[in-house]
Amino acid sequence: MTESLSPDSLLVALGRPHSAGSPVNEPLPLTSTYRAGGELVYARDGNAGWQALETVVGALEGGSAVAFASGMAAVAAALETLPAGALVAHSRVAYHGVAVLLHDREAAGRLRVRAVDTLDHGAVAAACEGAALLWVETPTNPLLGVVDIAALSEVAHARGAAVIVDSTLATPLRQRPLDLGADLVLHSATKYMGGHSDLLLGVVVTREPELLGALVHRRRIDGSTPGALEAFLALRGLRTLSVRLERAERSAGELARRLAAHPAVTRVRYPGLPGDPGNELAKRQMSGFGAMVAFETVGDADSAERVCAGVELITHATSLGGVETLLERRARYPAEVAAGTPETLIRMSVGIEDVEDLWRDLARALDAVAAS
Ligand SMILES: *Cc1c(COP(=O)(O)O)cnc(C)c1O
Repeated sequence: MTESLSPDSLLVALGRPHSAGSPVNEPLPLTSTYRAGGELVYARDGNAGWQALETVVGALEGGSAVAFASGMAAVAAALETLPAGALVAHSRVAYHGVAVLLHDREAAGRLRVRAVDTLDHGAVAAACEGAALLWVETPTNPLLGVVDIAALSEVAHARGAAVIVDSTLATPLRQRPLDLGADLVLHSATKYMGGHSDLLLGVVVTREPELLGALVHRRRIDGSTPGALEAFLALRGLRTLSVRLERAERSAGELARRLAAHPAVTRVRYPGLPGDPGNELAKRQMSGFGAMVAFETVGDADSAERVCAGVELITHATSLGGVETLLERRARYPAEVAAGTPETLIRMSVGIEDVEDLWRDLARALDAVAAS
């Protein structure tokens, strides 16, 4: 029956016990070991709570999912499947934790890395020569560029490189990288999947049995296992992803349009805006434009910081994907400045509050800067 269900229904229906008299939710399994004679021996092998979450995420992405303690634990496990000395070509605009981890591995002589502009297909082709892996992120964080997964998968595969897509900003509901040719999809489930800013969790999904086995092995041996409570909460959050995302995305589109017309804003980046560099590709590759908006303010870093300090309903904090709207000036991190993030760029994760309340809050903070 489930093959014919839409993702919005799979989210709700899968990963539940089915026998008569069972609870409708997988109970929270708090144990570090199992009675001998069963499939599971020790808690690093797995538990029914992770499996329920993995069943849902795997079905949404069209592969088999492996859950990890955090998005970064998932990133580390994916990189750890590569042999020593392997070359990784990676998106120059990437989640800064990924950039730091790649840099650390390179400094330790564990991997070789090559940063590339993934919007430039010729440059990606050159960077993939001799590479074992191409690391793609789309939409990119925080510039919200849209990268062509199908085209780059062809380019990378032709040169013998596997492709991983960090699809955190798109969620499994807005793009399916495995269908477009990627070998691995990664999510920080801390963000949209969990959706309530109350947990850390990561997921990697693949269709390739060898990669799946390697990832499960890494989790067991490195101990990068998700907490039982976190997996429970992530699945509970995931149940409502489609309604949360629908609302947040609608508000993001509206706020992006209004921001573009505000005198204190010099540029808005949102793939849903006509004329945005990623708009045409996003229409083909994604089934919606997501709920992240980035904008640059007039003035300098201090002006942008005053906007961040001036909001009241909106929370000035890092992270994204929760029900509450968050914003921050990304160039407050030195690594982001080095990666080319403009000084006044504010990244906003639009939540599910009333859009008029959000706009009043934002406009008031922006008006104060425009008037000064
Ligand atoms: C947050 C994030 C990560 C890291 O995930 P954690 O759960 O914070 O460890 C990786 N990639 C992207 C795009 C993210 O936003």
